[in-house]
Amino acid sequence: AEPRLVAVRATRVSPRLTLLVLRDITERERVEQMRRDFVANTSHELKTPVGAVSLLAEAIESAADDPEQVRNFAGRLIAEASRLTVLTSRIMSLSKLQSSDELSEDRIVSVDEIVASAVDAHEIQAESAGVKMTRGGTRGLHVRGDVQVLGEAVGNLVANAIAYSPRGSSVGIGVSHDADVVAIAVTDRGIGIPEGDQERIFERFYRADPARARRTGGTGLGLSIVKHAVQRHGGDVSVWSKPGRGSTFTIRLPLAAAPDDLPTGKKTRK
Ligand code: ADP
Repeated sequence: AEPRLVAVRATRVSPRLTLLVLRDITERERVEQMRRDFVANTSHELKTPVGAVSLLAEAIESAADDPEQVRNFAGRLIAEASRLTVLTSRIMSLSKLQSSDELSEDRIVSVDEIVASAVDAHEIQAESAGVKMTRGGTRGLHVRGDVQVLGEAVGNLVANAIAYSPRGSSVGIGVSHDADVVAIAVTDRGIGIPEGDQERIFERFYRADPARARRTGGTGLGLSIVKHAVQRHGGDVSVWSKPGRGSTFTIRLPLAAAPDDLPTGKKTRK
């Protein structure tokens, strides 16, 4: 963007000469605008489930002498409340990733550990969706960063792969590398993503249409979290997809040396 300059100080040096101190406010304004959009979108997204929770609570109160109805409303109330829990925790993850706060951990972490935590966290989801998870590729690789944040990123890809796959299909998590990059690829044989949506799905709250019709439980924040998480680790995420065939999401991160490969120094004897 064009720089936009504002004067922050003016010093009259002589009757014909004034010095101005200028500051470019474009970047600051952009960040501020992004923050405002985030708050606005977030409030909007929270409104629906919060409204549903209070309506369902009222419905339960007025159906008090009909146990069948109470059970029905209570079930829906629990579902809405758990959706709210997921939504708020994702909003918090994303706002933390978007802030300039340091990541809480910066150490050498095992890719196997990241993948295992992502798989473990979605075992139950996979089982109830009738989807099998398989893990393939290279073992023993390392990257540098926050294992929690990276585990959540890979986990979000796994969660989507399961959610947008038909029963009986399988989701593959594959790890590969070259001289300086590790690639973690999550592949499904699910509904796929129309080409026109592929770029936009990484935006906050963006959801592709066929999926929206099929699955209303999502938040539209999962991929945005993935994008920010890997970018903060000096990596990126990309997608390959064909509607009806499936999708592959690939996270690429800088390869780090394994802890035992680091020079340990000679033991000195006194
Ligand atoms: P959501 O909570 O809606 O899944 P995400 O940010 O994780 O939000 O994903 C954004 C959109 O991208 C989804 O609503 C869906 O349309 C599409 N999408 C993401 N992953 C997949 C996948 N594996 N297969 C098909 N569509 C996907």
